[in-house]
Amino acid sequence: MLKVKSNYKNKYKTNLTCRACGLAEETQIHIMQECTKLHQNDTNKVTQEMIFSENTTQLSQTAQRIQTTMNLLETFSKPSGVPLQSDRRALTPSVTGGMALPEAQRSPGTTQQPGTSAP
Ligand SMILES: [Zn+2]
Repeated sequence: MLKVKSNYKNKYKTNLTCRACGLAEETQIHIMQECTKLHQNDTNKVTQEMIFSENTTQLSQTAQRIQTTMNLLETFSKPSGVPLQSDRRALTPSVTGGMALPEAQRSPGTTQQPGTSAP
């Protein structure tokens, strides 16, 4: 069981809308495969076949993808009253034309390049 809203219908009785895109019900399938906010490419998509695979290497990769996706989903959760950086982005979609990029995809930590150190 994943921590998606459809698995917690008692907790989220009134609003099952996806925390990331706000366009669909936050089901396991949606979170793992369908959500366009969580999956801007296929890199972290998880299919049912992958979840029920008996290949342990595959399963470990699947677990990693799920973890990555759930972490990303958490960044869309908005604790009320706490102005997070991600909140500011979400409140000003016009700045980016509605394309709010997840933090992970614009990590500034790539400026240091190994191999270019002093001789
Ligand atoms: Zn979604």
